[in-house]
Amino acid sequence: MKLAELFHSIQGEGKLSGVPSVFVRASGCNLRCVWCDTPYASWQPEGDDVPVDEIVRRVGGFNCRHVVVTGGEPMIMPQVVELCDRLKRRDHHVTVETAATVYKPVRLDLASLSPKLSNSTPWQRDGGRFAEAHERQRINVPVIQQFIDTSPEFQLKFVVSSERDLEEIHALLRQLRGWNASDVLLMPEGVDTVTLDSRAGWIADVCKRTGFRFCPRLHVALYGNTRGT
Ligand code: SF4
Repeated sequence: MKLAELFHSIQGEGKLSGVPSVFVRASGCNLRCVWCDTPYASWQPEGDDVPVDEIVRRVGGFNCRHVVVTGGEPMIMPQVVELCDRLKRRDHHVTVETAATVYKPVRLDLASLSPKLSNSTPWQRDGGRFAEAHERQRINVPVIQQFIDTSPEFQLKFVVSSERDLEEIHALLRQLRGWNASDVLLMPEGVDTVTLDSRAGWIADVCKRTGFRFCPRLHVALYGNTRGT
């Protein structure tokens, strides 16, 4: 699997925020979010092909039960089913972080689904050459529903930059079944504390009104937007 990085850190987002975890970051993505915070796994994918055996061995070296398989987009990696199966057989708790545009029957404990809103479409970036493909692929309702239906636990995590995003979130949720408000996480867009703080107040108010969860980015507070932390 093309691997951008593998490192031991603290889960900074979502229901398992604060849990020490090993991150396995696949390199390559079918989307091109304009604000992507891991461009080395999407816009300019870096890294080498690493056999699943080697990934599992390196994960085992950290003596850490929780593993987060992330990207890029891990669901487009041919070896992701085998990787998750091998990690589960070693009794790891496996979170898979995906934009939920592609389904694969992976063994996991938490499906962290992050459907991308229209605020992600790169109309201006790189002359807009990825915008139409991104726009076509960014939401796949049947795939999101399949993850919800087949996962032991899931969360729906939305990157929010303005109040206009809320109508899109509600419109998507109306098309999905089997979720509770506490499965929905609103995360401010931003990779520095000033930007995150500027959006936190009104997003927290929305969470109080709707029962959605406010999702801080703990790793930004702990480490800044630093690769491999
Ligand atoms: S789906 Fe994730 S990895 Fe891919 S471009 Fe968007 S933010 Fe980056």
